[in-house]
Amino acid sequence: MAQDAVREACLACDRGSNEVPLIALVFQGATRWICPQHLPLLIHDPQRLAGRLPGAESMAPADTHD
Ligand SMILES: [Zn+2]
Repeated sequence: MAQDAVREACLACDRGSNEVPLIALVFQGATRWICPQHLPLLIHDPQRLAGRLPGAESMAPADTHD
C-alpha cells in the first residue's frame, strides 16, 4: 500500500521540524507545513507552490503595494 501520509516538512524546501520551525497551515481540509523562510513565498507568490500545494495555482498573491 502506498504511503501517502504528508510528512511534516516545509512545502517549499522539504525541511522537517528537526531542521527549521514549521508553521502549520490548513488548506482545503489538509494540514501542510511551511518554514518561516518560505512563508513570504506563500504570501506573495503562491503560484510558485503549485504542484507542491494542490490548489495553489488558483491562489492570488497578496496585494501589498503601498
Ligand atoms: Zn522552507
